[in-house]
Amino acid sequence: MIKKPLPAQVFRKLSVLYEDMQTQYVNHAQVLGLTCDQCADNCCTSYFQHHTRVEWAYLWEGLSELPDQTRNKFTQRARDYVRLAGEALAEGRRPAIMCPLNDEGRCGMYAHRLMICRLHGVPNRLRFPSGKVVDFPGCYRSQALCANRIVFPVLDRTAMYARLMELEMQFVGPRRVRTLPRVDLTLAEMIVQGPPQPHASGD
Ligand code: SF4
Repeated sequence: MIKKPLPAQVFRKLSVLYEDMQTQYVNHAQVLGLTCDQCADNCCTSYFQHHTRVEWAYLWEGLSELPDQTRNKFTQRARDYVRLAGEALAEGRRPAIMCPLNDEGRCGMYAHRLMICRLHGVPNRLRFPSGKVVDFPGCYRSQALCANRIVFPVLDRTAMYARLMELEMQFVGPRRVRTLPRVDLTLAEMIVQGPPQPHASGD
C-alpha cells in the first residue's frame, strides 16, 4: 500500500513549485525588460478562475494564519467581490474588480498567491498532451514590449503545470481526483466558500 503524503508535505512541495515559478517569471521578465514599476494597470483586477484544490487549500492555510481581524476584512471584501462579479456577468460584462486580498496595491497573501498570479505577466505557453498549444500574451505592458519584436522569450509553463497536477493528485487522492467536480472558482469564491473539503483518506 502506498502511503499517502500528508497535506503539510504536499504544501511544502507546492511552496517549492511556487518559488520555481517565481524564479522563471523573474528571469523572463528581466530578458523582456518588464517591470511593474509605475504600472497604470493592475493585474489584481483581472478576472481569473483557479482550478486546483491544493492551491485552494494552501491559500486557506495562509488565511488561517492571519489575525482574525485581517481575515475577516478579506472575507468581507471577497463577499463584495462575488456579488459585484455576479452583477457584471449578469449584464454581460467581464468583471474588473480589485482582488479582495489586494491591500493598497500590495498582495496581502504574497507567499500564498496562486499560480496564475505568479505567471500571468509574461508571455507564456501551455502544451496539452493532445498536442494542442495555447499561448497567453501576458499583461498589457508585456504585450507592448513584444509588439515590435520578431523574437521574444515565452515562458513554457507546461512542466510546472504538470507538477501542480501531480500535487493535486497527491492532495486529493488519485481515485477522487477523477470523480470530484472540476474546480472553477475565482479567488474570492475560494475565500467565501471556505477551505475545500478534506482530502480523501481511502485512496
Ligand atoms: S492574490 Fe495577491 S497577487 Fe493575486 S490577484 Fe490577489 S492581490 Fe493580486
